[in-house]
Amino acid sequence: MGEKFSRRSFLKTVGTGFGLTTLFVTSGKTKNLTATTTKPKAMLIDIRKCIGCKACQIACKIWNKLPAEETRITAENEYVNPPRFSADTWCYVKFSEVREKEGIVKWRMASLRCMHCLEPACVSVCPTKALKKLPEGPVVYDPSRCIGCKYCVEACPWHVPHFDEEKKVISKCVFCVDRIKAGMVPACVANCQTGALQFGDRDEILEKAHSSGAPYIYGEKEAGGTSMIFVSDVPFKELGFPEVSSKPMETFKSDMLTSIASVGVIATIISFAGYFAAKFLRRKEEVAKTLKEEK
Ligand code: SF4
Ligand code: SF4
Ligand code: SF4
Repeated sequence: MGEKFSRRSFLKTVGTGFGLTTLFVTSGKTKNLTATTTKPKAMLIDIRKCIGCKACQIACKIWNKLPAEETRITAENEYVNPPRFSADTWCYVKFSEVREKEGIVKWRMASLRCMHCLEPACVSVCPTKALKKLPEGPVVYDPSRCIGCKYCVEACPWHVPHFDEEKKVISKCVFCVDRIKAGMVPACVANCQTGALQFGDRDEILEKAHSSGAPYIYGEKEAGGTSMIFVSDVPFKELGFPEVSSKPMETFKSDMLTSIASVGVIATIISFAGYFAAKFLRRKEEVAKTLKEEK
């Protein structure tokens, strides 16, 4: 498949898909699948099945009443539109042009949102406990507790939380916690027509990922494990996914605090040493002065 042909066909597919998506979402024909157990939930995102129609992106906006943004489709952004998370975009579809031999390219699309980490760095750094990890899997937040310190924005390995400069609070995907608690699947999953998004208990989702035949899995171990499990036929590095250690970010925080504590202990020892040295020198001067006066 030549590059020119590939891109034109792709854009045509996206255009058609987008039109259909708009129709079925706005007409409210969402599948009302149910979440069955109380075990931690996860999402399977099969990049091989995604056609980039953005039904997930639109469903997220509709369900969460997030307004549309003014954006532009450009080649520099690899046609990703909008190209990042924002206060009004909690889910977007990342397009990647994967180059093969002899000028042949493959398009791959990945539906992105908060990873809902098992041990979320954002939760561990929040000084006001505005962010919280729920047993069902979602990492949720209480905007009224947010003081705008942006620690979560800095701590997140995927740069997910977005600080809304107008409202002075963070915002991000909440894993459709209201729907999950009502026994429904997330809105984005319910509207994906190709089966690229699936929802279920995390252990079942992992089983599906491992038996899917996909050579690459992402999200099972990254940052200590997440609730978003991606499968792909191309390496995630080529799709622009960051390499994230399997060590939970919470551990990094503990390491950091230990280092800070060690630095603190050393600093205390140094300051005590300085204090006693100064005291000793002062006493020495006093003794020398007394001896001089006695002579
Ligand atoms: S992806 Fe980022 S914002 Fe989402 S739970 Fe993990 S650390 Fe928090
Ligand atoms: S889980 Fe819900 S809030 Fe998160 S991206 Fe999907 S639709 Fe949006
Ligand atoms: S994940 Fe599904 S709904 Fe989202 S763009 Fe891909 S095919 Fe469309």
